[in-house]
Amino acid sequence: MSEKLELFIDGKFIQSKTENWIEVLNPATQEVLCEAPCATESEIENAISSAQAAFLTWRETPPPERSRIMMRYQELLKQNQDKIAEILSKENGKTFEDAKGDVWRGIEVVEQAANITPLLMGETVENVAREIDSYSYLQSLGVCLGITPFNFPAMIPLWMFPMAIACGNTFILKPSEQDPMTSNRLAELFVEAGAPPNLLQVIHGAKEQVDKLIKHPDIKAISFVGSVPVGQYIYKTGTENLKRVQSFAGAKNHMVVMPDANKNKTIDSLVGSSVGAAGQRCMAISVAVFVGSSKEWIEELKKEMELVMPGPWDSEESGFGPVISSQAKERIIGLIEKGKNEAHCLIDGSQCSVEGYPEGNWVGPTLFSKVKTDSEIYRTEIFGPVLLCIEVDTLDEAIELINKNPYGNGTSIFTASGRSARKFRHEIEVGQVGINVPIPVPLPFFSFTGWKQSFYGDLHAYGKQAVRFYTETKTITERWFDEDEESSKNLTINLE
Ligand code: NAD
Repeated sequence: MSEKLELFIDGKFIQSKTENWIEVLNPATQEVLCEAPCATESEIENAISSAQAAFLTWRETPPPERSRIMMRYQELLKQNQDKIAEILSKENGKTFEDAKGDVWRGIEVVEQAANITPLLMGETVENVAREIDSYSYLQSLGVCLGITPFNFPAMIPLWMFPMAIACGNTFILKPSEQDPMTSNRLAELFVEAGAPPNLLQVIHGAKEQVDKLIKHPDIKAISFVGSVPVGQYIYKTGTENLKRVQSFAGAKNHMVVMPDANKNKTIDSLVGSSVGAAGQRCMAISVAVFVGSSKEWIEELKKEMELVMPGPWDSEESGFGPVISSQAKERIIGLIEKGKNEAHCLIDGSQCSVEGYPEGNWVGPTLFSKVKTDSEIYRTEIFGPVLLCIEVDTLDEAIELINKNPYGNGTSIFTASGRSARKFRHEIEVGQVGINVPIPVPLPFFSFTGWKQSFYGDLHAYGKQAVRFYTETKTITERWFDEDEESSKNLTINLE
């Protein structure tokens, strides 16, 4: 009998009464790590009403006190970084180094949440009209909800609940059913850090649980990260139910390679950013756009890419891990097969195997050249260790091609020319832009953004801007009278 993963409701880890359980598998071995419950309706109700009750006292807790909890939390996360990374690697498959990075990027957000007080300041203007002053507060919203994907089981939950809670809200987290164990550990440590136990509740499950949560009248704001179809659905359904929604979705990220770029650095960066984490990063580079003579580097790129091999999380030899599930592997291999009819396949990773791990979801590095923009491999987010090469003559053509792509999550240019870099960053229609940086993920004192189909909502957030998402602005316009003053003559504000 495998372990039954618990829900975290009302400050307690509890065994779900559901009859529906989802097996959580180690993607390198298919070993059942645990079974995750699909929470029942009454368990969801209990979590939301507990979070609602907690909100009434938590919103009155002074921000510096909230910050102190986050300070202790980031310290505890640092002490437990390796242990969390181990849980994460086993259920997600990513290498230990990569998993530690996943936790670390989350810790950086908690550090930001620990500095919340200056970010919660409102605005003030004295004398907006004669003897009238105006100012605004940022006030917390209530119970917020986070729905997270499988690919960053620590970082993405930590993008959300620490900021929301530091802003005075309470939070329901619905992690990916494919790797939900990391979230339970994050919740456990949060309480150990001194957080009142019912500020954060963890509900496990899939679509049915998400549907109940996003329509619930007591949920005030929804943060979602995941694929485009689900992101669109969450945005539409959440806003239809009159909630504030931010929805980060899929990607197809291009790197432009100019002939004047540093060749070795470009090739290293292309390999690392396309096959690292088995290509399962939302900021992975999946298309290389070679401008002019830089296309001559494709042969060298191929040689470098062939040297990187997948393997288990705890081997230092592993360049990256397995893909998340056998279904994901099948889907990726199906796309590779289609690609063979659409472009030139320079490296085929579809038959990859790893000694000692016959059951693993392995896909090897895969490289296509002569890719056309109307092909299925170009139009689809493959989310595997697959890199497509396209050749163009000019930077203008490269920019036009990227701007026509329906996604707009991340992009980068490798060049030695300040002029090309400036033109690229000015004209490109993508959220995160790297110049000689392949995966330009911003630190949390910046905002994480996304254009076109990569983001829905009007508040680009996870970092500093998350404060504006998880709070409501209240503007006060103020005027005072002497006790003996006749009030009748001042019934309207005269902006003289
Ligand atoms: P997914 O959309 O399948 O799942 C995300 C979450 O939504 C999970 O918690 C899942 O349980 C839930 N869900 C799935 N189907 C649902 C449905 N029909 N109705 C309601 N809820 C549903 O995404 P994934 O496969 O876990 O993650 C990979 C995707 O996430 C990729 O497309 C990747 O680009 C994207 N991603 C984007 C960003 C970003 O910042 N833009 C970051 C990380 C990942």
